[in-house]
Amino acid sequence: MKIAMIGAGYVGLVSGVCFSDFGHDVICVDKDPAKIDQLQDGVIPIYEPGLSDLMAKNVAAGRLTFTTDLGAAVDGADAVFIAVGTPTRRGDGHADLSYVYAAAEDIAKAVTGYTVVVTKSTVPLGTNRQVKQVIRKAAPELEFDVSSNPEFLREGAAIDDFMKPDRVVVGVQSDRAAQVMQDIYRPLYLRDFPILLTDLESAEMIKYAANAFLATKVTFINEIAALCERTGADIKQVSKGMGLDGRIGNKFLHAGPGYGGSCFPKDTSALARIGQEHAVPMQITETVIRVNENIKTRMIEKLRDLCEGSFNGKIVAVLGVTFKPNTDDMREAPSLTIVPALVGGGAKVRVVDPQGMREGKDLLPGVSWLEDPYKAAQNADVLVILTEWNEYRALDLKKLARKMAHPRLADLRNIYSAKDAKRAGFTGYVSVGRQDYLG
Ligand code: NAD
Repeated sequence: MKIAMIGAGYVGLVSGVCFSDFGHDVICVDKDPAKIDQLQDGVIPIYEPGLSDLMAKNVAAGRLTFTTDLGAAVDGADAVFIAVGTPTRRGDGHADLSYVYAAAEDIAKAVTGYTVVVTKSTVPLGTNRQVKQVIRKAAPELEFDVSSNPEFLREGAAIDDFMKPDRVVVGVQSDRAAQVMQDIYRPLYLRDFPILLTDLESAEMIKYAANAFLATKVTFINEIAALCERTGADIKQVSKGMGLDGRIGNKFLHAGPGYGGSCFPKDTSALARIGQEHAVPMQITETVIRVNENIKTRMIEKLRDLCEGSFNGKIVAVLGVTFKPNTDDMREAPSLTIVPALVGGGAKVRVVDPQGMREGKDLLPGVSWLEDPYKAAQNADVLVILTEWNEYRALDLKKLARKMAHPRLADLRNIYSAKDAKRAGFTGYVSVGRQDYLG
């Protein structure tokens, strides 16, 4: 099959690389010439484990190319995937669909034979029908179908998620489009991964409902964590006890500083807007959005307590600022709320992150970037673990405590325990949903 992938970001690039690994001929298009130059030089512009090698393998096999020329890429393709961004629109919380519609129009102008235009971007209900109209208007004679194929991969585990998905959701309106989509995903179908064929609206809804549900689960456990702190319960034991219930499951039950990332915040916001537009308020989702914001504020207050009531003049070392480990993505990361509060309160903030600096240096003004946690801890008043990179799971706590002016640890991912911290010489320790001690 010949596939064109419009948008070579986290989703487009991973999908394009994986489709080429299935044996398809893939051309990835991006309007950002710098990105395409890098890709043509064999450099991936994002951090995603395993992606570089898989890309090199398929480029060498002649199945994967990159271009800025959308017109040349889409003509003759069996399917054209739209994988451009759908960020939150300024002002109203809705998904900004301008990139999707612009891509649809460009595709319509360039394609001459039958193709399936597949929306992989996360888009609100009705968008695929709108894409169809945009194309129909720009190319009234064109033979084509549209398909909704939302993506569920997680950054940091994207290749595995794409190659071994829990399911592939494909919304279609015709048998012809269904056949093309089944042929594209045949390697997965042959390995018994479920391919769920639906109508367009259901496919669109599945993506928002799934993300809102996961955001709810995270937020629920974060709220229970706050109650644990007040009542003496331990959230780690509570999560374990809940997660062992097969009806609940143990995923997305880890208490922390609130969800962030490129999907949950914008998708919950878009779902809330869709509900309002249809006069069916998404009350649970609206509450989740509000509670998640409060959780970040709660974290700031915890840090303030650890700093004896004021950040002013304190040296704070922050480990991890990406929204989760194994990605360089900073979009909506809790660090973007918490670190500015520290800086704004007069703290001197040192930041360490294995991959976050490239994105983060413009987003977090007024901090200094270091590479080594132990150097960052030198003479510091507080050490904060904000993202649970593997590098921070086995820190030498004694060494850290010895280096600090006031050895106090804010472990916002519950990696260590009050006992570990005390034994290592920390005089203060706070975490999420467990008993703190403030020396
Ligand atoms: P991204 O911002 O990393 O990438 C989007 C890319 O599209 C950019 O490189 C941009 O230059 C390019 N682009 C925009 N308009 C274009 C056009 N007309 N022609 C060519 N290129 C164009 O975004 P992303 O994180 O990959 O997300 C893409 C979509 O997938 C979003 O709707 C998102 O919600 C969804 N999604 C993302 C994830 C994730 O983990 N990042 C997971 C599932 C779904």
